[in-house]
Amino acid sequence: MIPLFKAYPALNSIPYCSLGVFPTPVTRAEKLSLSLNRDGLFIKRDDLSGTLYGGNKLRKLEFILADASQKGSKRLITSGAAGSNHALATALYGKEAGFKVVLMLMEQPFNPKIADNLLADFGSGAEMFLDNTYEEHLNSMQRVIELYKNIDDCDPYIIPPGGSSIYGAVGYVNAAFELRDQIDNGLLPEPSVIYLPLGTMGTVAGLLLGLKAAGLKTRLNAVSVVPSFIANREKFTRLFNDTNEFLRINDPAFPVCSFSDDDLIINNRHFGEGYGIITREAILSIDILSRTEGITLDGVYTGKAFSAFLADIEKTGSSD
Ligand SMILES: *Cc1c(COP(=O)(O)O)cnc(C)c1O
Repeated sequence: MIPLFKAYPALNSIPYCSLGVFPTPVTRAEKLSLSLNRDGLFIKRDDLSGTLYGGNKLRKLEFILADASQKGSKRLITSGAAGSNHALATALYGKEAGFKVVLMLMEQPFNPKIADNLLADFGSGAEMFLDNTYEEHLNSMQRVIELYKNIDDCDPYIIPPGGSSIYGAVGYVNAAFELRDQIDNGLLPEPSVIYLPLGTMGTVAGLLLGLKAAGLKTRLNAVSVVPSFIANREKFTRLFNDTNEFLRINDPAFPVCSFSDDDLIINNRHFGEGYGIITREAILSIDILSRTEGITLDGVYTGKAFSAFLADIEKTGSSD
C-alpha cells in the first residue's frame, strides 16, 4: 500500500494506479559534501521513478490516469512547451494505460533536449499540435476539445500543463509520506530544507501539504523557472488549499493544513532571462553535480534549482 493510504486508510477511495518504481532512493551526496565542505547533503532520486521514463511527472500521473480511467475517458489532452517532460510522460504512460493521447504544444527557446522529447512524443504515436503563441494555443485547445468530443462521442480528459491538477498534487502529498518513512527508517535525518524547481507548482504544493500533514518541519526553497504569472504565491495557496480540501472530503481524518512564510521560499533569483533559457550559473552548477555525483541535471528546471542551492551555500555557508 502506498504511504499516504497507509497513514490515512480512508483515502484508499481515491483512484490510484501504480506506474513508477517507489520509494525512490535517497542517497548521501558524499563527494558533493566534500567539495563544498559541508556535511549532511542528500539527494532524493525522483529522476529514477520510472522505467519507461523517470522524473517528477510519474507521481502525478499515478493519480491522474487512475482518475481518467475511473471517469471512463478514452482520450487524454494535455499541453505544455514543445520540450515538455510532462507531455512526454503523458504520451508514454497514457498509451500504456490504453488511452489515446493528444499533445498541445507551444514554441519554446531551443535546446537539444527538446528535439529528443519531440521525437519520443512522435514515436509514442501521440497526436501533436504546435502553436507559436499562447493565444493561438488557447484557440487550438478549444477547437481540438470540440473535435474529439464529436469523434469519440465522449468528453476527453483534460490534464493541465505540468499535470498540476489536484490529482497531480496528491502524488506529491504521497511523496512526503514516503520521505517520512525513509526518515523513520534511518535512511536520512529530517531535512532542514529541500531545494527544488517551481514550474506549474503541483510538485511543491503537494509536497508542502504532505510535509505538513506528515508532521515534518522541513522547509522548501522553490526555485522559480517560469514567469510569475504562472508561479506565484496566490495560485500556489489555491492549489495547496484545494488539494487539502479534496483529501479531507475523502478522509475527514486528514488534517486542515496551512503554511507560513518560513515554510516556503519562492525564490525568483535564478530564473534568468526566461523559461527554458539556461543561465551561466546553471551551466556551471550542472557541471559540478555531474563531476561530483555523476548525476545529470537539466538546464530548464533542476540546473536552476541547484544553482540556487549553491549560491545560498556560498553566500552564507548554509543552505538555510
Ligand atoms: C515539470 C518539471 C518540474 C516542475 O514541476 P512542477 O510541478 O511543474 O512545478 C521540475 N523539474 C522537472 C525536470 C520537470 O520536468
